Amino acid sequence: MYQLENVSMDYHVGKKNMFRALEKINLSIAPGERYSLIGPSGCGKSTLLHLLAGLLQPTEGQVLYRGKNLTGCQQDIGVILQGYGLFPWKTVEQNVMLPLILQKKSKEEMREKTEPLLEHLGLSSMNKKYPRQLSGGQQQRVAIARALVAEPQVLLMDEPFSALDALTRENLQNLVLSLCEERNLTMVMVTHNIEEAIFLGQKIVAFADHSGQIKRIDENPHSGQTAYRNTAEFYQHCSLLRSWIGGGQHEA
Ligand code: ADP
Ligand code: MG
Repeated sequence: MYQLENVSMDYHVGKKNMFRALEKINLSIAPGERYSLIGPSGCGKSTLLHLLAGLLQPTEGQVLYRGKNLTGCQQDIGVILQGYGLFPWKTVEQNVMLPLILQKKSKEEMREKTEPLLEHLGLSSMNKKYPRQLSGGQQQRVAIARALVAEPQVLLMDEPFSALDALTRENLQNLVLSLCEERNLTMVMVTHNIEEAIFLGQKIVAFADHSGQIKRIDENPHSGQTAYRNTAEFYQHCSLLRSWIGGGQHEA
């Protein structure tokens, strides 16, 4: 699905200086795979996700999506950026429909796609409400619905559950897992929570420090299975990850 070849990303700092946020990243993501990206604050997670979304172009190297250079947003890539990104002046329904409005779909098609999704995500009864009238978990479900309404092949999420309490977080993790399975989505999720990274990601990319380089866990076959959270293998992976990123999960 994705092929990243020697991808580096520099940001301008002031007029003359550059800051290197990513250093020669090589990564290949197969269709239907679930990836977690983890690391301390400021290590380049969002930068990498923006590159995968086509929202940023690398300074060096290539981001290939389905074999082609990714040069902008794609209809079949659904994105949830950091924070929920909902429009406060639009209702739940209007927020979810937004990608379809941008694609100039007919009213009928919008309704056909939106209604079952709202139903599936338990949002039907609040479709006329505004985001401020919803809890954090409900707002995040609206953001998920909006990312999925145009039926993307890829779901990219930047710290989607970080503001939620533990129980809501687990419920939404399970929801995302079932949606990935039903729709055979390729999923990349940024998190700074070690347990979440290990539970959801079939593969895990860790930014160990601020050098812009990565370490990875490629074998995590039991991810997504409820019982996995209580196994020795789960704890071993968690402590490996903790040793790499120095317990950075407590940074926001
Ligand atoms: P993370 O999501 O892991 O917290 P980011 O990818 O947002 O990290 O940022 C990586 C580094 O790049 C940080 O040091 C951040 O300050 C810097 N950075 C991010 N965006 C910009 C920008 N637009 N201009 C300059 N520096 C940036
Ligand atoms: Mg970030």
